[in-house]
This record gives sequence, C-alpha cells and structure tokens, in this order.
Amino acid sequence: MPTTGSPWPDGKQAAISLTFDDGAKSQLERAIPYLNKLGLPGTFYLNPRDDWRERLKPWREVAAAGHEIGNHTVGHPCSRALWGQEHGLETMTLEQLESDIVTAEERLREAIPEQTERTFCYPCYYHHVGSGRDRQSYVPLIARHFIAGRGGTCNLGFAVAPSGCDLAYLEGHPAERLAGYELIGLCERAAARGHWLLLVFHGIQEGALAVADGDFRELCDHLKRFEDRFWTATVLDAAKRVKAWRG
Ligand SMILES: [Zn+2]
Repeated sequence: MPTTGSPWPDGKQAAISLTFDDGAKSQLERAIPYLNKLGLPGTFYLNPRDDWRERLKPWREVAAAGHEIGNHTVGHPCSRALWGQEHGLETMTLEQLESDIVTAEERLREAIPEQTERTFCYPCYYHHVGSGRDRQSYVPLIARHFIAGRGGTCNLGFAVAPSGCDLAYLEGHPAERLAGYELIGLCERAAARGHWLLLVFHGIQEGALAVADGDFRELCDHLKRFEDRFWTATVLDAAKRVKAWRG
C-alpha cells in the first residue's frame, strides 16, 4: 500500500463525494438540477420499496446524467435503540439482512439497467446485527457484495485518509444544519490533508436533517470554482480510484 503520493487525478488535493440518503423529494427538485447545472456528480442512496417501480422512474434519468444510484437496502433497518421499535438490527440475522440487500440490488438493476455497479449505504449509519454476545458486524457482508460502503460516524471535521480507510465502511460526515462556510471549511481541511470527504445530505430545505438551499449552493459553487483542487466524484468512482492506487 503506498504511503506517499495521492490517488486523486490531475494533482487535485482532495476527493469530495456529495452523498444523499433516502431519496428525499428535494434531492430531485433542488439538489440534482443544481448539480447538473454545474456538472458535479452526486451519489444517491435509495430504498426501492412499496411501489418501487414507479418511485424509481425519475432516478433512471438521474443515473443517465452521470450520478450514482446506490443501494440503501429495501427496509432501511436501524437499531432498536433509536425509537424502541419492535424490530430492528438487534432482531435480525446476517442472512435476513443479506436477503434485503440482494432484493434492493435486483430492483435497482431492473429499474436502472444502464448502471451495473454501485456502492452501499448503511441505514442510520449502523453496521451491526444482533445484540450483546450475539452482536456481529455486517461490514464483511458489504465487503463481499460491494466495492464500498458509506457510513456516517465521521465528525469533528474529519474526512478519510485514502491510504488507511476501510472501503467497506467509509465514514461519512453528516451535513445537516451546517452553513455553507462550514461545509466549505470541511472541504478545505480535507484538501490540506489530501483526504476524501464524504458529505452526507438528506433533504435540501426539507425535513429534520435539512441543509438550506443557499448553503448547499454555496458549497457547490466553491467546488466548481476550485475544481482544479477538488475532485468531486461519486463514491463509486472515488472508491475505484483508491483501490487501483493501493494496488
Ligand atoms: Zn437512510
């Protein structure tokens, strides 16, 4: 594994992956038109459930525009610790979880046949099934099925080092309630270190984990204006590059 040099193309200082979870309406209405206008790619993690054929229809065009559509499971299983719900990751087995993820994959492939590769996103950032003595990580399961998986436990301004990160659990940095200057600051800090920043968005101007439209645009404008320094890439493309660089 190399310890010198950088995996990022054309002398760029950092990789920035703009990732979006749960298929919020504002992603289609606000984020994607702006990303398309600037020519920046994003990664959108969807849950193909309910009337999934209908719900995935607009996303085929999103994939055709160069964005990545990622797997976020069908059922979005989270820890029971979050809401005290009856069923959650603590009551699931690895086999049940794998079956859910494979079903999501089959549906995404049917709805968006042009896209044959994708990355995974851990619902609610958790990566376990069971509890106590029976608790197990499901990161190895993701490593078997995907080139990379994005989690979300990165905070305090950290990004991930391409030389040392676990592609099967890449720590994402939640973007909710951050201002444009704070989002830009995270990118600049990643650039100073040569790192890969995976920002996690949910709604733009929508929902409990919102980022304001103006703040999102300010970030995108910065990435575009300084594209000689920032490589804005889908998680899939950045993961492939890191993997190839490591050799
Ligand atoms: Zn989610």
